[in-house]
Amino acid sequence: MDTLLITGGAGFIGSNLVRRVLATSEARVLVVDKLTYAGRRENLEDVLGDARLELVVADICDRQAMSALFRDRRPRGILNLAAETHVDRSIDGPRAFVETNTLGTFELLEAARGWLATTDDAARQAFRFLHVSTDEVFGSLGADGLFREDTPYDPSSPYSASKAAADHLVRAYHRTYGMHTLVTNCSNNYGAYQFPEKLIPLTILNAVEGRDLPIYGDGSNVRDWIYVDDHCRGLLEVFDNGAPGETYNLGASCERSNLETVETLCDVLDEVLPARDNGALAARGASSYRDLMTFVDDRPGHDLRYAVDASKARDALGFEPATDFETGLRRTVEWYVANREWCESAQATGYRRPRLGLATS
Ligand code: NAD
Repeated sequence: MDTLLITGGAGFIGSNLVRRVLATSEARVLVVDKLTYAGRRENLEDVLGDARLELVVADICDRQAMSALFRDRRPRGILNLAAETHVDRSIDGPRAFVETNTLGTFELLEAARGWLATTDDAARQAFRFLHVSTDEVFGSLGADGLFREDTPYDPSSPYSASKAAADHLVRAYHRTYGMHTLVTNCSNNYGAYQFPEKLIPLTILNAVEGRDLPIYGDGSNVRDWIYVDDHCRGLLEVFDNGAPGETYNLGASCERSNLETVETLCDVLDEVLPARDNGALAARGASSYRDLMTFVDDRPGHDLRYAVDASKARDALGFEPATDFETGLRRTVEWYVANREWCESAQATGYRRPRLGLATS
């Protein structure tokens, strides 16, 4: 039976991916996760009892531990999702981003290379190293155009720079050592189990608690959104059928300004949890969640627009996203409203959704 090694499998996208692999294949899943603030056992609670799943708490920067896992568990491949992921946090403290995102990926590549050198040719041919990256490595678009796989890298934040460096290393291991690597660059994800520091869950939780809904700058920055389940399907398509050495953009052609996204969330919330049923909203004297919208200082170096051309994955692999934004947002709102316990435990360390990432020097 195949073993898939999924790093960062206790995080937002990782936990959704683990669930999908267990539900749609016979594979064993070995999750390696350091369990930072964003990665939690609770994200896998419903599947931890599955005998095919094992969670190893470890740091991908720990070469010895990673080498031992490759040697002992002989995975058919690795999907590398472990990362520090919040742009605002990368502005306040870039070191952890370089360490995990860049050096951690390097340590995984070296651990995989060392192990592959001891295996036979069939195992080397079958092996895949899928590195999960972001469209933010391409920098910012103006009003027109789309990121393609051959768009030059031009990252703006310490987060995207650390991811960009890792992407280059992964491709170099294909060209230099012949490792069967794959890189995916995906647009913004949303869905269940996302830590409430990111725009969509932060807006939902603030709204439910009757707090201000912060909108950076004038809200005109555009993001391209994909429902997390669609991203996970895309990752498995690339893992199973992508051509070694190739890069694939993943996205759902769903551009929205941040203002539009928050407004849509407010409208969905007005239906799912109307003001009359939410004392916190009434206490603010508000009759709609839109009344809570507040414009705040912009993020330094805030990229204006992201938009992904995912036609290569569609044409080469048949990848098509299935969930439209309004459906996905409604499911997401309903999940957060129904899972208040998860929301509380995610913030049990004292995280209270403060404004981050304003440091400019
Ligand atoms: P997340 O922050 O929710 O999860 C990251 C996971 O990595 C957590 O479980 C965390 O504990 C783990 N981790 C962090 N440092 C580690 C280390 N040193 N060793 C082992 N584990 C470690 O992030 P996410 O949103 O699920 O993103 C997953 C991946 O997808 C990241 O690589 C990210 O760059 C990429 N990505 C995310 C998005 C998005 O919109 N969320 C879009 C495109 C690409």
